[in-house]
Amino acid sequence: MDIVVVGAGIAGLSCARALADGGARVRVLDRGRVVGGRLASRRSNGRYADIGAAYLVADDPAFLAQTESWQSRGLGRPWTDTVRVYPEGTDTRGPVRWAAPGGLRSLATDLADGLDVRLSTPVTSVEAVAQDADAVVLAMPGPQALKLSPPPAIASAATSQSWRPVIAAVLTYPSRSWTGFRGAFVNDHPVLATVCDDGDRRGDAAPVLVAHSTPELASAHLDAPAEAGPILAAAVGELLGITAPPEIETHRWTYAQPEKASETPFARDGRVWLCGDAFGRPRVQTAWLSGRAVASALLDG
Ligand SMILES: Cc1cc2nc3c(=O)[nH]c(=O)nc-3n(C[C@H](O)[C@H](O)[C@H](O)COP(=O)(O)OP(=O)(O)OC[C@H]3O[C@@H](n4cnc5c(N)ncnc54)[C@H](O)[C@@H]3O)c2cc1C
Repeated sequence: MDIVVVGAGIAGLSCARALADGGARVRVLDRGRVVGGRLASRRSNGRYADIGAAYLVADDPAFLAQTESWQSRGLGRPWTDTVRVYPEGTDTRGPVRWAAPGGLRSLATDLADGLDVRLSTPVTSVEAVAQDADAVVLAMPGPQALKLSPPPAIASAATSQSWRPVIAAVLTYPSRSWTGFRGAFVNDHPVLATVCDDGDRRGDAAPVLVAHSTPELASAHLDAPAEAGPILAAAVGELLGITAPPEIETHRWTYAQPEKASETPFARDGRVWLCGDAFGRPRVQTAWLSGRAVASALLDG
């Protein structure tokens, strides 16, 4: 069985990994220069900062086994079960959040190991890659899949998704002037949605915070994301009482998080499949499970 997977994010890679383990021949194509998609770590001041997903939560047994495999090989680690919630400023316990010492993208790199992954390879249509394949798996947000002229049921599933944008700002300070803070959800704020201590979650104690904007701020600055950087830095400074100005780098995520979950683990139209984090709660675990569900269905024939 010859399968083409378009998208080397966590969904595409988990799909390809399971297909390869099941004996299929798989090619993974991605337009990016690196694997991971929104599981993204950007090099900044000589270290990686996580600019996409902030952490992983694993409450599915199979995904928990995957995170434990990463942990056993030093790639992943439980980070914290406690985050602060603003505007109250209270610490709240929840599920264990997992982080990666080498940046979350290193987990995607691990999944890609040994697979036939072709980077810097933009796909322009399903038809262009379907000729020699028994199946084509589109592992990406629906709006990106729609650009590939997919067949009707895929187009319909993709059209029914709606997505929120986020601008991420990596804030590098002269020193760590905050204490007892790991990460926060910021409710009812006009510009700031979350802020995480990247030095704490990565474990290198670098004086780096990563802020994620509200969809409103991102929508207003999608054409010029750098302009949102100082706005996010000011909001973080005010929230945490930091007076030193940080170095700022920004990244735009036009399709950051899906707004409503599909009830099925993937969509299918004949030989073409669509998977990703819109097929369940919007998180890394869902994308990983969605990719695996497609692989199981293909292998089961
Ligand atoms: C700011 C932000 C914060 C987040 N925080 C969290 C969090 O804390 N916890 C959590 O669990 N999740 C979080 N998420 C969500 C998480 O990152 C996603 O659920 C997950 O990474 C989605 O993986 P995916 O493989 O479905 O999609 P993606 O990672 O988007 O992968 C899609 C891939 O397809 C490729 N592609 C698209 N079009 C083409 C084309 N035409 N040709 C070739 N390649 C193409 C892209 O380059 C990309 O690599 C966050 C996301 C963002 C953006």
